[in-house]
Formats: sequence, C-alpha cells, structure tokens
Amino acid sequence: MKKEFKAEAKKVMDLMINSIYTNKDIFLRELISNGSDAIDKLYYKDLKSDKNVDKNDYYIEILPNKEKRTLTIRDTGIGMDEKDLEENLGTIAKSGTEIFKKEIKNEDLNNLIGQFGVGFYSAFMVSKKILVNTKKDDQAYKWISENAESYEIEKSDKKENGTDITLFLKENTEDVNFDIYLDQYKIKELVRKYSNYIRYPIKMEVTKSRKTEDSTDEDPKYEDYSEVEVLNSEIPIWKKSKKDLTDEDYINFYKDQGYGFDDPLSWIHLNIEGTVEFKAIIYIPRKAPFDFYSKDYQKGLQLYSSGVKIKDRHEDLLEDEFSFAKGVVESDDISLNISRETLQETRELRFIAKQINNKIRSHLMDLMKNDREKYQIFFKEFGNNLKVSIYESFGAKKDRLEDLLLFNSYRKDKMISLNEYKKDMKSTDENILYTVGENLEKIKNSPALKSVDKDRDVLLLDEKLDEF
Ligand code: ADP
Repeated sequence: MKKEFKAEAKKVMDLMINSIYTNKDIFLRELISNGSDAIDKLYYKDLKSDKNVDKNDYYIEILPNKEKRTLTIRDTGIGMDEKDLEENLGTIAKSGTEIFKKEIKNEDLNNLIGQFGVGFYSAFMVSKKILVNTKKDDQAYKWISENAESYEIEKSDKKENGTDITLFLKENTEDVNFDIYLDQYKIKELVRKYSNYIRYPIKMEVTKSRKTEDSTDEDPKYEDYSEVEVLNSEIPIWKKSKKDLTDEDYINFYKDQGYGFDDPLSWIHLNIEGTVEFKAIIYIPRKAPFDFYSKDYQKGLQLYSSGVKIKDRHEDLLEDEFSFAKGVVESDDISLNISRETLQETRELRFIAKQINNKIRSHLMDLMKNDREKYQIFFKEFGNNLKVSIYESFGAKKDRLEDLLLFNSYRKDKMISLNEYKKDMKSTDENILYTVGENLEKIKNSPALKSVDKDRDVLLLDEKLDEF
C-alpha cells in the first residue's frame, strides 16, 4: 500500500533536498553513520548474549553499480522490522515537525534543519528512488520511495541480518554529474574525508591494475583485477594522538556524530592516565540546539568501554551547567557487564565525570582569558545556562561558576567578568554597583546612572535571570 508522507514532513524534505544541504556529498556520511549506529546496537546486543561474537561479521560495504546507476550501502547491523520502517523512515523528523512549524519563520533554517534527524533523507539529494532492504531477527522488509513523495513497504526475502540501502541516482544535469558517486576514487575520497573514524570496516571492491605474469620489460602487459579494500582507518579518533589530528578531523567527527550542524566552537581532547584511565573528546557547540532551553533537551556524553558503545547519552557525565557539551568518553576501567542502574553508581564513573567537568570549566576559563571573541559567542548562547545553575543550586555552585559570567559594563561598553570589575575597584570602593532593566538601551538612559562617580563602573543587567 502506498502511503503519503505527512504534510510537514514534505515541507522539511523539500527544503532540505532542494536548498538546505548545498553540499550533496554528505549523504554518504549520513548513511554510513546510520549503518555504524545499527551495527553498534547489534554488537552490544550480541556481546551481552551468549553468542560467539566474531568481529569480522560486523562491517559496512559500499557497492556501486555503474550499469544500473545504483549505489548500495550495506550494513550488517540490527536491521529494521515493519514497525521500525514505519516509525523511523515513514515519519520523517517526527519530533521536529511541530517545532519546525513554530520556528521556521525566524530561525536560521540551516541550523534548524540540521537538528531534526533527517540524515537518511539527505540521500534524496542524489537519488530519484531509494530502496531499503532490511532484516531484523527473522523479519525482512523492503521500503521503497520515489522522489520522497510517498513510500511503500512490502515483504522481502533478504537472508542476512542488516540493511541494504540502494540509491537510484538522479539523471545527470548540466550542472550536476551524479555519476561521480559511482566512481571508486570519489567514494574513497568521501569516506576518508567524512567517515574515516567509523569503528567498523567500510569495505568496497575496487578495481586495480597489475602486470600480467607474462609481462616483460620489453613488452609490458597489464591486467585489471578486483580486490576488497577497507577504506577507513577504523581507529576511533579519541584513541589517536592529538598531534596526528587536524582541526578538520575534529570537525568532521563532530558532524559525523550528529552533535551539531555548524562547526563546533571549540573542543578538548583528553587522555587521562592514573588509577582510572580514560580518553575523551568534548565539544563546545557554536549554537544552542533549538530545544536547549526546554524540558525536551537531554544532556549527556557517549560512553564506550573496550571498543563497545555502552550508551549514546550518559547523563551523569555532565553537570547541568555544562549540559550543552557534546562528545564521547571511553574507559576500559568500567565493566561492560554492569547493568545500567549500577553504571551510575560506580566510583570510576564518578571520578571520570568529575574530571571532565573540571576540564570543561578550565577550558572555558582559558577561552575567556585568551580568546574573548570566542568566549563571547559561547556566553551569548549558553551564559544563561550557567546562571540558571547557580540559581537552581541555591548558590552552591556560585563559587565554581561566577568567574565564568560576563556582564555589560557601563564605562567600557563591552562585557566584563566580575574579576575584571574588581580589578578596577579602588580600595575604598566597597560594593559592586549594578542596575537592572529590560534592555540595555533603557538601562543606559536611566537617570540613576548619571549620578554615579565618573571613576566607578556599573554592571548593566539586562537579562530577566540577572535579578535573581
Ligand atoms: P537519525 O540517524 O538522526 O536518527 P535518520 O533520518 O538518519 O535520523 O534515521 C532515522 C532512524 O532510522 C534512525 O534513528 C534509525 O533508527 C533508523 N535507521 C536509519 N538507517 C538505519 C540502518 N541502516 N539500520 C537500522 N536502522 C536505521
């Protein structure tokens, strides 16, 4: 039976397919990331069962077919049953459409779209038709959609577990040559650029050339042969040494993980040794997600142990004031087999969380001191979150967080920290002067300010929260 997509979903897709993602190349990254997530889910499940786990069974494969002009991305992951197909691929952007309708008028579209989980649909930028052939446990189904207008689900006879996503490429136009996505060099380049640190092998059969056996120096002869090659490095980025990584690597990983759509503002790469050892990469996003200041927002960091993803979002690793941070932590000192409840209570995890939160704080202090421009961007997006934390902890977090706050200065016409204010105080000045108002314009015009001594600064508090 043919099913139409929901109206809002169509709107999202149209926008995305035709105008939002200007860079068509990223569809491959999105599909590979989905495949990797699906393998994570199966791998974790298999490890916890009694099954004999063979690492070779978990991989992604890319299959270009030049005659048929199709590109298939295969994974040996958990697969999807009928309900999954309906829910995950049928209702695009399910959580996002309502918010989309509300915010579309005034938000930066680019930023908004990136937050919806429309990754899979980016494949329509290059495809006129998509066929998903998938098997989960013993149920196999096909999901087919042409031009992202409607979709059909039918039974399939797929034998192996996992998912094949076959893209039927769009016809070439004067401006775009879609055939490049069938070219092995282009595919290799894209995998290395966007998906190098996927932790499962991304394989592809590639054609190479070699000298034939009867080839001689006088009469050289060559023949083509094919060989399956692994295109990615497989060593996760957080296990690599900082000096082997470029900014681009960190930025690509950030996007690859779907932490955000824009480039991150800043990051820290930690390699902590001692009684509890762990590695982590923590990012400060450039923009707050649309739901950041709502109840829907969920904080947390990805948690790995011994190469296995344990949780996609472990909340206890982040204090509320740093809930904006994104990233990943891996420690072999936490056991794989502890249940999720006990996970929260282990001494090791508490230690790791403490270290991470201290590092985030000192990183922010560092930014404030050495890169004020960046810090201002951070503070504009997330400063209120720091203030809320001070308020909600009834001041318990005041000492830890007050140094991170910035306020508008009356005399300096910029934002300053409390410490900077104090530095300019004379020994006879006893108090920090401040005034509160609806917005900066109004505050600056208040007559009370005019009566303040010329050599005294005043903090102009224009946020509602500031009054507390
Ligand atoms: P996101 O990955 O951001 O959640 P997508 O639109 O890319 O959004 O995918 C929607 C959902 O479809 C995924 O969350 C996942 O549940 C499911 N899905 C997509 N691709 C696969 C796959 N290869 N194997 C299993 N499930 C998949």
